Amino acid sequence: MIVSQLKPLQEILGYLNGERSVFIVGCKGCAEVCHTGDEAQVLDMKQKLEQEGKAVTGYCVIDFLCDKALVKMRLMAHQSEIQAADSLLVMTCGIGVQAVAAVVNKLVHPAANTINMGGSRGEWRGAERCRECGDCVLDMTAGICPLTACTKGLLNGPCGGAKDGRCEVEPEVRECGWHLIYERLNKLGRLDKMTGRPVLKDYRKMMPPKELRSTLMWALEQQETKV
Ligand code: SF4
Ligand code: SF4
Repeated sequence: MIVSQLKPLQEILGYLNGERSVFIVGCKGCAEVCHTGDEAQVLDMKQKLEQEGKAVTGYCVIDFLCDKALVKMRLMAHQSEIQAADSLLVMTCGIGVQAVAAVVNKLVHPAANTINMGGSRGEWRGAERCRECGDCVLDMTAGICPLTACTKGLLNGPCGGAKDGRCEVEPEVRECGWHLIYERLNKLGRLDKMTGRPVLKDYRKMMPPKELRSTLMWALEQQETKV
């Protein structure tokens, strides 16, 4: 279970600044349980964006947005609506946003923050995708998470050690995450996203929020009692 919470509407509108139209993607997995990406939330967001003068070219709610192959298959049925949109707004956890970014040639915006629960992972295997940082920055990084794609988790650009697009830490197996971010923003003609404010993080949000801790397996770890 991956816990997500909707971002404030003003923050989402800030992402859409300068854009006229958007396609919305929701998730029937964990995001449905958290009420961040179920159909009702998607329709509510559609209405709010339209009230703000944005055209919503279409929407789609997918069973598990963290399953990249499934996302690709389902979005193919919405190709023309996606083509008609300036960008996509993805209403789910950070893994789902990245799965959508990996299969479309459009900018994606996160509509939610992923809350730390101590290590759940999605259905898109092969690599760590989201560190559940509680303040998703994928809007600024073309849908590629700098906390997981960059070996050092750097938030404000590359370390300077990359060579030929490979990470200096393990060049034989890892591409430089910031090279990937730059390449994708460049391809989408949105390098302006890189010139915004530096990414500042409140690292307290990388702990599960107090009110959720008592319900976690994580909490059992903290108990002193032994069997
Ligand atoms: S910025 Fe990365 S770690 Fe934070 S919520 Fe988004 S995908 Fe997850
Ligand atoms: S080379 Fe790139 S991915 Fe590797 S640590 Fe430096 S910035 Fe991060």
